[in-house]
Amino acid sequence: MRKSDRQLGMRRDITRRDFIHGTGIAALSLGLPSRVAGGQLAPAHAPAAGRYYPPTLTGLRGSHPGSFEVAHELALEHKDFDTGEDLGEEYDLVVVGGGISGLASAHFYRQRFGQDSRILILESHDEFGGHATRNEFHQGGPTRLVWGGDFNLEYSAFSEQGNALLTELGVDIDRLLERNDFNYGSDGELGPAVYFDAETYGRDVLIPGFTPRWGDFASILGKLDAVPLSPESRDSLKRFYSTRTDVLEGRSPEERRQFLRQISYIDFVRQYGGLTEEAAEIFYNTTHGYWGVGADSLSVAECEGAGLPMGHLLGGEPNTSGSVGGEVVHFPDGTASLARLLVRALIPAVADGQGMDNIVTAAFDYSQLDRPESPIRLRLNSTVVHVNETDRAVHVGFVRDGKTANVNGRSCVLACYHSMIPYLCTQLPAAQREALAYQVRRPLLLTNVLIRDTKAADKLGISGAYCPGRLHGATWLVKGIEVGKYRHNWKDPGAAVMQFWGSVEPVKRGVDIRRQHQSSRMRMLAMDFEDFEREVRTVLDGMLGPAGFSAADDILAITVNRWPHGYAYDYLDLWDPEWPPGEAPHEIARQPFGNISFANSDAGAYAMTEVAIDEAWRAVNELQNQRPRTEARTHGPSSPNPGS
Ligand SMILES: Cc1cc2nc3c(=O)[nH]c(=O)nc-3n(C[C@H](O)[C@H](O)[C@H](O)COP(=O)(O)OP(=O)(O)OC[C@H]3O[C@@H](n4cnc5c(N)ncnc54)[C@H](O)[C@@H]3O)c2cc1C
Repeated sequence: MRKSDRQLGMRRDITRRDFIHGTGIAALSLGLPSRVAGGQLAPAHAPAAGRYYPPTLTGLRGSHPGSFEVAHELALEHKDFDTGEDLGEEYDLVVVGGGISGLASAHFYRQRFGQDSRILILESHDEFGGHATRNEFHQGGPTRLVWGGDFNLEYSAFSEQGNALLTELGVDIDRLLERNDFNYGSDGELGPAVYFDAETYGRDVLIPGFTPRWGDFASILGKLDAVPLSPESRDSLKRFYSTRTDVLEGRSPEERRQFLRQISYIDFVRQYGGLTEEAAEIFYNTTHGYWGVGADSLSVAECEGAGLPMGHLLGGEPNTSGSVGGEVVHFPDGTASLARLLVRALIPAVADGQGMDNIVTAAFDYSQLDRPESPIRLRLNSTVVHVNETDRAVHVGFVRDGKTANVNGRSCVLACYHSMIPYLCTQLPAAQREALAYQVRRPLLLTNVLIRDTKAADKLGISGAYCPGRLHGATWLVKGIEVGKYRHNWKDPGAAVMQFWGSVEPVKRGVDIRRQHQSSRMRMLAMDFEDFEREVRTVLDGMLGPAGFSAADDILAITVNRWPHGYAYDYLDLWDPEWPPGEAPHEIARQPFGNISFANSDAGAYAMTEVAIDEAWRAVNELQNQRPRTEARTHGPSSPNPGS
């Protein structure tokens, strides 16, 4: 029988749950202890309580309460914000969006137009980096770092300017590779696993050595009797994994290509792989983390990239390696290290040091982000609501602490979500606004759970599992990435982060993909912390409980990184036409307008760090900057605490 909230520990260690729902930052600026602000155990070695330091906040993070409400008032309720107070601040460049693309835009601008350029970066969240954000835990003793979003640095896909940026920031890929031993939950003694949960499948069953995505088919066949599906579905899986055929025999290469782009993976494995609906369902959410989309909305060709089994039905070999995509490397906090490197290069006062070795452990002083004496200022908790091009300047209005204010820039780079821009910049031509609105981002979820130790997982011989019936389609331990003085390897017996990775299913499958994303987004935002907490406690209890894990006692902290605007919209075989060169929505959307240009991974219609950087490069190089430079007026008082 499913355990009660009390048995799962839902009431433990979380003393002031209401603070999680939006006042964590307020609590920090009021100097409340971090136990209250984060709703979890007091950090043992955390930065001093009361200091503004978002990485240690637990509870609802990612698009945290307070980060999106103003934007939703503008875009969904069409609220008319006034221009507000003129702060008298004049910049060479105003950047909207402090993600990798916005930060890289500031970096490239300074390179192109001079180190003394005055730049303001406006960011709606309480943290910089966009998806490149980090979660920092101290509750289990030694610091444990993990990413809250963007994590794979796909270095082999970096362009010339992307590589040049890495070099300038002191990122040494060869050295990162030497101490990179993270393999997405396949490091356990028995390899990866699948967890079939009691709520969906009637009983909890963990099958080590079996993954729906890849593996040795002979070994998988030996495990299928344990799969808690109907006998008919189990038989269909046995046939599926023992068949070697070419269901497209006789078709030309072009016909094959067309076919594989026109049928969804789920339809393919049902119609050509002989799986029952129930059996095919175990693949549905395996693509959630990888694509932000269920396998029913992805073509077979797209699912090949995600490593789903199909080669054995197409005259090829089964996918046994689990290797997908290009060559990757990690920092312990994912690409948050890249964001931190960029911020430290732009505003050296925030942290000491140079290069990548100390970036992971460098103490960041957020009070230095927005100082009037600094040529580069990064202003958090500031949602831009107006961007207007005039003869004299680009006027940029933003809301902070409930008040609207405005500043001027000679030019402006919009590095925010493109679907938002039509509401900010109403001057743009109708066709461009329509093209911008096409880029509906894919919601993603990344929940980090700090557990007391990994004894139960070690006993079971696993380091992660696919979870076909659950909200998060996969979970894995994060260990084995060491940079500089940061240590956390697989032999460490102490606390570790179990990461849960996926998306939220839309209310209705099969409808237009952008409607699916909007539906997932609304569902994600409607869930509160307790919904996510109950979910991860239930999974950990069912999966690791039989090996001695106690969901009530062994969970030290939970951070839910919800990203309702997750991956940039890249075009999908089943949903988007093939546009002639230059006519795709993202190409129309990113045309410069006066002294405004458009960065962000949305501008490349591809959700990757390297694209965010390349689009920043293009956007900066499109700026003309012919206006005379305005002299800085007094900037008024600085923000002693970016959260105040
Ligand atoms: C969970 C997750 C995992 C990922 N993993 C990887 C990975 O492993 N490898 C990879 O290459 N990519 C990954 N990505 C893709 C990631 O989106 C890109 O790599 C990259 O970080 C995107 O940077 P960006 O600057 O284009 O966008 P974002 O990071 O979204 O930054 C845009 C910024 O604009 C801000 N903004 C929006 N509107 C406004 C406004 N009106 N006013 C002020 N600010 C505003 C937002 O708050 C945000 O900070 C992942 C994404 C997610 C969500």
